[in-house]
Amino acid sequence: RGTVVLAATPIGNVGDASQRLRALLADADIVAAEDTRRLYDLANRLGVRVSGTVVAYHDHNERSKADGLLDRVETGATVLVVSDAGMPTINDPGLAIVRRAIERGLPVTCAPGPSAVLDALALSGLPTDRFCYEGFVPRKHAERVQRLRMLQSERRTIVFYETPHRIAESMDDLLDAFGPNRPMALCRELTKDYEEIRRGTVAEIRQGVIDEPPRGEIVLVIGGASDEEAAAATPSVLSVGELAVLAI
Ligand code: SAM
Repeated sequence: RGTVVLAATPIGNVGDASQRLRALLADADIVAAEDTRRLYDLANRLGVRVSGTVVAYHDHNERSKADGLLDRVETGATVLVVSDAGMPTINDPGLAIVRRAIERGLPVTCAPGPSAVLDALALSGLPTDRFCYEGFVPRKHAERVQRLRMLQSERRTIVFYETPHRIAESMDDLLDAFGPNRPMALCRELTKDYEEIRRGTVAEIRQGVIDEPPRGEIVLVIGGASDEEAAAATPSVLSVGELAVLAI
């Protein structure tokens, strides 16, 4: 039997490609790539010749393609799964083949590497001991407001992906949900020449977005709720233990 390998690719700086990624690109029997043109572009920049078959593997066909790829794993092939940037499965294709491999009892492993979530979290200066990843900030206003409201009492550091054309509206909603003083970081163009980390309160970052709209790829990292904020956001959901303490 072969194996499925999920491999992380650079999120901006091609120098972040690991030795293992290079070897896998050169040697895998099949490379399942989110965008085949970008895959060849990466291989060119790394000076690697891809010897295996390259197939398109994206959000729209990942379910239907998974079993065919796994049939090849069953007969000994190494199937490398790569997305356009960062770690496959993290807001990128890959989950369908992982699930099917598990169901079929086939080996799946990972060649780890860059991912914007951890890069931004580590650079934010906010607590990293507990965090939650929330994917992209919802595109629609009503959904966004609802999601942010659900996160008002979240104690863990919160990581969101965002796009430049929605950041201004999102900052208005972040201000409403978390108030002006919550610490946050806006991390932009990570690992690239114009990498920029803006750290401040929600109000300060919002003003900065108005004054100097950020371009490129963006991750937002928001500090978790303090005890007071958590209590204010959810006054009615005290645990039995907390009620007992209050009663004393
Ligand atoms: N799989 C990727 C990963 O592991 O980070 C994420 C893919 S998702 C489709 C793309 C989003 O990730 C971008 O819109 C942005 O929010 C974030 N992102 C990716 N590369 C980034 C970078 N170099 N700097 C900041 N954010 C980045």
